[in-house]
Amino acid sequence: MTAISILPEVTAFLSRPHGHYIHGRAVEGRGDRIAVVNPSNEQAIADVADATRDDVDAAVASSRAAFEGAWGRTTPAERANVLLRLADLFEKHREELAQIETLQSGKIIQISRAFEVDQAIGFLKHYAGAATRIHGETITPSLPSLNGERYSAFTRREPVGVVVGIVPWNFSILIAVWKFASALATGCTVIIKPSQFTPLTLLRIAELATEAGVPAGAFNVVSGGGNPGRWLIDHEGTAKVSFTGSVPTGIAVGRSAMEAKLTRATLELGGKNAVGFLKDVDADKTVAGILESGFVHQGQVCAAGERFFVHRSRLDEVLEKLKDALAGLQIGDPMDECTQFGPLSNRAHFDKIVGFFDLARSEGGTIAFGGQPLERTGYFVTPTAILVNDRRAKMLSEETFGPIATFLAYDDEAELVDLLNDTPYGLAASLWTNDLGKAMNLIPRIEAGTVWVNMHTFLDPALPFGGVKASGIGREFGSAFIDDYTELKSVMIRH
Ligand code: NAD
Repeated sequence: MTAISILPEVTAFLSRPHGHYIHGRAVEGRGDRIAVVNPSNEQAIADVADATRDDVDAAVASSRAAFEGAWGRTTPAERANVLLRLADLFEKHREELAQIETLQSGKIIQISRAFEVDQAIGFLKHYAGAATRIHGETITPSLPSLNGERYSAFTRREPVGVVVGIVPWNFSILIAVWKFASALATGCTVIIKPSQFTPLTLLRIAELATEAGVPAGAFNVVSGGGNPGRWLIDHEGTAKVSFTGSVPTGIAVGRSAMEAKLTRATLELGGKNAVGFLKDVDADKTVAGILESGFVHQGQVCAAGERFFVHRSRLDEVLEKLKDALAGLQIGDPMDECTQFGPLSNRAHFDKIVGFFDLARSEGGTIAFGGQPLERTGYFVTPTAILVNDRRAKMLSEETFGPIATFLAYDDEAELVDLLNDTPYGLAASLWTNDLGKAMNLIPRIEAGTVWVNMHTFLDPALPFGGVKASGIGREFGSAFIDDYTELKSVMIRH
């Protein structure tokens, strides 16, 4: 097995100086440098600047000018065409974007291609289609007509203004697309603040956006950590934040958004997603479901399953077969097309996951498989399965965001529903059964923004995505995003 060759354009891009992308051009920035590290070999591949307040001011001024100017004057069809041209450029630069993503995040190349780029193309086209379908409604008022006057009324959907999109490191392209394409389709302008761990793809995509016809300032990228994110939210020139990340940061973002100036906030946060296998599902199908739910991209998927509930009569057989399946995963260089399981994305996350292995042992969990860092360069750990006997185990309540599946046996369906909902979070859940009638009865009883049946993690642009309970506020894509990126203006006319 050998790694694919790095494209010359990727090498050329990485060797350029990087900072931010403001008003249609790449700028280096004057802030401290942040190294971008390849998690499979711990080598720096580039560095970017941590944005200063001056950088943030420049980005907001530029986005504001584009909102009041060139982008604000576009028609819906023009905005749709720009997004379609950007989708074409994603297709043209598919391999380049996928390679940059794999080098900065450790995502295996097949997933960078299929999920980050190909899915992003589908989403861009979805938003392009939505751009021409944003509308208000006409309403007949009931006011009395004393002197023969009449009234007409209608509502308008108007873009909120400059949107701040704050993005985590796990899907640096796809999650950014959900934010910048929502903004551009509705007529807003946007400033993306990528994660400090994975800023490079967005800097390249901003260049492609300019090539696609996005005018200067309509799409800016500001690199750095938490401070630039906070400054952007607090800034008087921004109107909305769309944040995706962890629950604690999301709560801080929500608070600062409210305190700043009632900045509109959409919060897409983490969870502790549940996966329930009904008794009728055999061990082979269960194991395939566990791999799909819990181990794609080393479990670093916000909707990934972490709490696995298997009927007591099936559990031993399932764990035996799961051990074989996990042992058979090809672990290695994410740039090798044969690799199925790569490194964790960064050192801090690696340390956190190793801490969870210790927690599982300290609270008496049985490590059915894995539970170790790998003795090699890079942030590699084993895919891991842990069996607990107590529903109060911390392994069943704390989000690991890693390749750790925690199992608990259940005895009847009432107990299963109780376990599925026994969490402050509610991003996603899946049910696995051959009895679709039973699934249809259980779906309304599950507290989650998305419920999958006999599948997990796959997202479709037409279906809104977001969390209930402490997993967030608001929805991405579908048609639901329009409410979050526009203000509803009521107009009434006496005539
Ligand atoms: P994080 O919360 O640490 O960081 C997310 C982003 O917020 C980063 O860009 C970071 O620089 C920025 N940030 C940090 N502090 C900030 C502050 N005070 N103000 C403004 N911005 C700030 O999350 P992460 O570690 O990058 O990502 C992992 C988390 O994201 C997991 O909890 C995962 O479940 C969640 N996630 C949720 C979804 C979803 O759609 N619901 C999708 C992907 C990831």
